[in-house]
Amino acid sequence: MSLPPQDHEFLPPYRLLLGPGPSMVHPRVLHALSQPLVGHLDPLFLDLMNDIQALLRATFQTNNEFTIALSGTGSAGMEAVIANLIEPGDRALVGVNGVFGTRLATMIERQGGVPLRIDASWGDIIPAEAVREQLARSAPVKAVVLVHAETSTGARQPLEDVGALCRAHGALLIVDAVTSLGGIPVEVDAWGIDACYSGTQKCLSCPPGLAPLTMSPRAMEAIRQRQTPCHSWYLDLALIADYWNDRSRAYHHTAPISMLYALREALRLVQAEGREARFARHRLNSEALLAGLETLGLTPLPATEHRLPMLNCVTLPDRINDAAVRTRLLEDYGIEIGGGLGPLRGRVWRIGLMGESSREAHVLTLLGALEEIFAHHGWPAQPGRAVHAAVDIYTGSQPTTRRST
Ligand SMILES: *Cc1c(COP(=O)(O)O)cnc(C)c1O
Repeated sequence: MSLPPQDHEFLPPYRLLLGPGPSMVHPRVLHALSQPLVGHLDPLFLDLMNDIQALLRATFQTNNEFTIALSGTGSAGMEAVIANLIEPGDRALVGVNGVFGTRLATMIERQGGVPLRIDASWGDIIPAEAVREQLARSAPVKAVVLVHAETSTGARQPLEDVGALCRAHGALLIVDAVTSLGGIPVEVDAWGIDACYSGTQKCLSCPPGLAPLTMSPRAMEAIRQRQTPCHSWYLDLALIADYWNDRSRAYHHTAPISMLYALREALRLVQAEGREARFARHRLNSEALLAGLETLGLTPLPATEHRLPMLNCVTLPDRINDAAVRTRLLEDYGIEIGGGLGPLRGRVWRIGLMGESSREAHVLTLLGALEEIFAHHGWPAQPGRAVHAAVDIYTGSQPTTRRST
């Protein structure tokens, strides 16, 4: 049997990652990944798990005891929450206004649950009023499920008013915070969220591989009250709780040790920057990017008040060839941005400014590259205008918001 040529190390090129994830990773996080292994039951490793739990509680703004990093990407977090909280026959209200709401409805169905969809156009949000009406019509339901940051459309789902509605109807509130955590406020306790999961490769700027996850005492009680054991053994949160619990530390599966080193370092960077400074940085870079893109004829899909700063979804004028531009960006500039998914394919770009990717230098580099590519194709773009518009935003801002860490 002949092997393909594998006699050399894989040395990836340097890419500027400005898509919907993964985002850029800080050198300190990459360094943490390359440290020697210790065993997953080594007392030193158990200390590290405690550190991660404390850092995650601060990041999620919660006192929930069950706050962990699940093995697997964001979708594993999603599947764990649904598989543990939705039993066969359970009805759950789910907001569907993009790819991830759709995926949640599918997962609920696969667990034998009944998804009651609240649909909205892609780019719109699910109004609290619609949740209130559906709850009044359909209660009792087991849970209300919403995507905080819909990465396929760039829409930011308001959550402040939903928690109280859920409590009033005895429903659990499940929130997907994969893209929002670390980029905009996520207030698990203050907003009455019962189950919240995220992913490492978006605004936490760690490689993909872990799903931060927190569950309220109400959610843990719902798991204890299940009629049937969770259908997934690997994602059974009652078993996983026994490993993360300081008092039991029962072996379930081997923890992804190096990824946990990396996450600890990534969360330390988040804490060192400070919540307000981090959120302000994400807002400012998004504002500057959108000001520049506007001069190129690219306008945001969601309404102003519902835009995510870390995922800038802009519609393309007809004259712009989506694939041609993205190929040149990648091949000539080493820059990755995202295309549209589903019905938005070929119609939008999704430009991620997540975590370490959200930097002034990255915004100016991308705008400069787009101006050059547009000019090359003879599309009406006055070279310099986009960069200038972004610079105007930066010069009007506080210098502390702009500094890199
Ligand atoms: C990226 C993403 C996911 C899935 O995360 P993976 O790491 O790709 O598994 C889920 N929900 C939202 C909102 C996302 O943006």
